[in-house]
Amino acid sequence: MAHSKALLVLENFIGGKFVPCSSYIDSYNPSTGDVYCRVPDSGKEEVEAAVKAAKEAFPIWSSKSPLERSQILNKLADLIEHDLEAFAQAESKDQGKTITFARTVDIPRAVHNFRFFASSILHHVTECTEMPAMGCVHYTSRAPVGVAGLISPWNLPLYLLTWKIAPAIACGNTVVAKPSEMTSVTAWMMCKLLEKAGVPAGVVNVVFGTGAKAGEALVCHPDVPLLSFTGSTLTAQRITEKSAPHCKRLSLELGGKNPAIVFDDADLRQCIPTTVRSSFANQGEICLCTSRIFVQRGIYNEFLKRFVEETKKWKTGNPSDPTINVGALISKEHLEKVRNYVKKAQAEGARVLCGEGVDPLALPPGNQKGYFMLPTIITEVKDESCCMQEEIFGPVTCVVAFDTEEEVIKRANGVKYGLAATVWSGNVGRVHRVAHRLQSGLVWTNCWLVRDLNLPFGGMKASGIGREGAKDSYEFFTEVKTITIKH
Ligand code: NAD
Repeated sequence: MAHSKALLVLENFIGGKFVPCSSYIDSYNPSTGDVYCRVPDSGKEEVEAAVKAAKEAFPIWSSKSPLERSQILNKLADLIEHDLEAFAQAESKDQGKTITFARTVDIPRAVHNFRFFASSILHHVTECTEMPAMGCVHYTSRAPVGVAGLISPWNLPLYLLTWKIAPAIACGNTVVAKPSEMTSVTAWMMCKLLEKAGVPAGVVNVVFGTGAKAGEALVCHPDVPLLSFTGSTLTAQRITEKSAPHCKRLSLELGGKNPAIVFDDADLRQCIPTTVRSSFANQGEICLCTSRIFVQRGIYNEFLKRFVEETKKWKTGNPSDPTINVGALISKEHLEKVRNYVKKAQAEGARVLCGEGVDPLALPPGNQKGYFMLPTIITEVKDESCCMQEEIFGPVTCVVAFDTEEEVIKRANGVKYGLAATVWSGNVGRVHRVAHRLQSGLVWTNCWLVRDLNLPFGGMKASGIGREGAKDSYEFFTEVKTITIKH
């Protein structure tokens, strides 16, 4: 493997200090295939030190008022925003995503996560009920729980990590975070800003390394009573098993196999570009990406023609070029896995209309060894096919025809996942009916990825347990108590 000249070497952040690790793992730049960074290969020892630091910081941090914590979160948001360009460049290099996506989505959203929870923490109210006959008043109070373990994936590295850190510390918990070993750089950069923002030592600890070593040590640590995890359903099963002896509180945000349903009265001028985006944004590496498109038979041929035309306008190549729409996939192994899905579909008799194996992929000289793949559209594929059932998590989407509303609801629900669905129709009654019957934690109608962070985010079925958002994250990261007063 090629080692580039100046390797970036990360260190764990424990108790307010950067701490070297005894062993390291290589991290690749997905757009060149070169190793460019070394990430601590932490294990039990490092996790132990981080949990100890977080436990020590808990009494100080949890006794601060929400307003004090809010001001610190806002300061941290300002500092990240000040360095937005450096964070965006680092995220693009580390993950393979386009610089445009990192600049306009990942980093602004990470900033917003801190600002949002800095604000929402000030506005929660407790519940109160009266029992006049008993002379009693009951009310609830909420308190932070302790040390939260936060484990995040590689697709939206800083965005998803801060979506956990911000509510956890806003509520007064201290945290030990473990980002994906494949995308650790922006979390490490954030650690450099914590002291300046006023975050006391030990409130945010970041331990880098693999899931099997660092992740499991965190999951199994007896002094970490709550775990917030975003990643694959398979890993969530393991985390559930491993944490079971400690009866930990779990929040699990997992994979999806998200349908888009396009009825024949849909406004295709909006639907087509949005569905190209929902299928291929961030190389299809977003848990909310569309990967099964059901189109009503009357408009099927027209949809398919226009959808392929629009997809072909998306340019794949060097992620640091601002005109590029599709960057590199996260790793060589992942690229191989995604390509294999296309091969399996072809072997089953499906047709590939554009992309992988059909169109030429021209890359600049510096990116020849990068993990690139063209946006790929598959059709004539059966609902039972693995491409229609399993999460591919790459730039691949399937398009199939349907006839009736009843039929499409059944087919859309016919997978183990239930994260995000999209419905396209001009008929408001139909939109409501279908939205209510879809087994999906989120349903977007005539749009995609429009989020109000106040509202619950998360999946049903194999897509997760629990929800995140202003109220949901507050409830997850606090312990409630009911107090009764008799006069
Ligand atoms: P992954 O499950 O392989 O890894 C996620 C994180 O868990 C990483 O930090 C990894 O190191 C860690 N991990 C792995 N094994 C572990 C173990 N045994 N114990 C503790 N930690 C462990 O997922 P990934 O490949 O990084 O991310 C892609 C997946 O994440 C996809 O399935 C995607 O749909 C899902 N995802 C879901 C959401 C959501 O909000 N629902 C958002 C983004 C990604």
